[in-house]
Amino acid sequence: MGRTHEKSTTVGAPLAPARARRWILSLGVVLLVAIALSAFLSIRPLGSGRSELGQVSRDDLATHQVGDLRTTLADWQLFIEQHVGLLSASAAKIDPVELATGALLITSEQTQVRAIMTSLDAVGLARPAAFLASESAYFQSTVSDLGPLLGGASKELIRVGVVAMRNGFTRMWLATATVNDQLAAITAVDLRQGADHLTSGRVLVLALDVAFGLTAVACAIAFGQRAHRRQLGDRAAMARRTFEEALQQALDMAPAEPAVYDVLRQAVSFSVPDLRVEMLVADSSRAHFRRTFTTAADGDELPGCGVVSPTDCPATVRAHTLLFPTSRALEACPQLKQRPSGDCSAVCVPMSVAGKTVGVAHATGLVDRPPTAVEIRYLEIAARRASERIAMVRAFEKSELQASSDPLTGLLNRRSLENLVRELQRDGTTYMVAYGDIDHFKSLNDTHGHEAGDQALRLFSRVARDSIRPNDVVARYGGEEFVIVLPSCTTQAAVAVIERLREHLALALTSGRTPAFTISFGLASSTHHDTFDAALASADLALLDAKEAGRNRVTVADEPPTRVAQV
Ligand code: GH3
Ligand code: MG
Ligand code: MG
Repeated sequence: MGRTHEKSTTVGAPLAPARARRWILSLGVVLLVAIALSAFLSIRPLGSGRSELGQVSRDDLATHQVGDLRTTLADWQLFIEQHVGLLSASAAKIDPVELATGALLITSEQTQVRAIMTSLDAVGLARPAAFLASESAYFQSTVSDLGPLLGGASKELIRVGVVAMRNGFTRMWLATATVNDQLAAITAVDLRQGADHLTSGRVLVLALDVAFGLTAVACAIAFGQRAHRRQLGDRAAMARRTFEEALQQALDMAPAEPAVYDVLRQAVSFSVPDLRVEMLVADSSRAHFRRTFTTAADGDELPGCGVVSPTDCPATVRAHTLLFPTSRALEACPQLKQRPSGDCSAVCVPMSVAGKTVGVAHATGLVDRPPTAVEIRYLEIAARRASERIAMVRAFEKSELQASSDPLTGLLNRRSLENLVRELQRDGTTYMVAYGDIDHFKSLNDTHGHEAGDQALRLFSRVARDSIRPNDVVARYGGEEFVIVLPSCTTQAAVAVIERLREHLALALTSGRTPAFTISFGLASSTHHDTFDAALASADLALLDAKEAGRNRVTVADEPPTRVAQV
């Protein structure tokens, strides 16, 4: 059993619009989310990095402030050391300007300490700020204690005050060094963390950007391929439509079955050139297949499919296209096996109209390389159009036949006989016309029944057809009357033909169940008459003579009718 190829299958069918829109919408949402996420993650680490950098700059400020303070302290120390001898000798000799300079340095120290404390608080260094404040307060107290002594205290007291103040200065100096170290440590940590933060943020952003870019490229490729496939599908569909239209036009111009097969042979040779196609068509009774054409190359007349009847063909029985990738397969059609041409692949396309089998289009290819979906589509188109045209031509021929023949006997009727004779006269062909009338037919009907009468009419028709030459014509002219036209025939030859016919009739009646009967004929020649009607009237007169002379005989018209034979 082969694979069933559904007729509804479309090659390169475009995506349904609603489905395509859903895809595009979903992809758009995904891309928007990806872009928003990427933007958020890009901005966040940069913002946080900026705030870290801002903090670092504030730390720098505190560091600078501590540096300034240490400069002030150094100036103070210089000031003290320059005047320490003088202080020990006599306080009264200190220049008031010098004193004012010392006071200014102390004031600066206080201002700078407050500024440093503010900066340290801002960066969260509360403890170093408090430590610096207490050391500064101590230093200030030593300076304050020294001031009143300068007004007239003993040298010993002044020396003790100077020592205390030096001690306060040293503590203050150490405090600034400690704060400096802590600031330096904080700044280094913050810088490292900030840099790490920025780096990790950038790496994440980079990764997201790469992922986003790859996604966008993948989407573009996918959509590009889809569009390409759709374009190819559209082009293929257009080519098929063009082919089908051309085929239809050609078939419309094919008036009979042989012409239809010529068109189909040309069409499949063009559309599926790599396949060996043959078309088996059932006769009107749909009992037998006959091969109407094959696209095998000249000389390649190896037998094709040997199926003889639609009932033996799996494709026509199932009314489905069947594909056989290899004739070696167990389930391959038996008709494919052990062909003289060897193993093959095949596709069988049933041809039918309104559920009635017309034939089968059978195509073979190389083994394991079965016909493609595109080739099958073309074969199906050809098979469908062929079925329709063959059915139409047959219906037309049938209706033509019905209109031109007598339904009871199958002989030509009066109208078609007259048409044929008109052609003879147009060609200038002479003829003999024999007018026959069954003898006592009424009594045959009355005695044996109307059905027996019909049977007698059919029997005579068959005998008459078999007794005349291919060029002669016999027609039922009405009732139990028949006319035979014998072109290019002498009177003697015509008499001989009619006598032979009467003999054959007598013989046929001996072997059947039809009641016996005879027939009388009148003969006339066209050479004595201008028209067929005139010749026929003359033959009718001769027939009358034959009846009057006793029936069951042939008489010849014209000067005078002569009885020439009697059985
Ligand atoms: P004759 O020898 O003088 O010709 O006598 P006849 O009886 O043949 O002549 P007639 O014209 O009286 O009878 C013709 C008969 O043929 C009458 C009719 O019933 C019969 N007939 C005509 N057409 C048919 C037909 O289609 N079937 C049958 N069964 N009988 C027919
Ligand atoms: Mg009659
Ligand atoms: Mg009669």
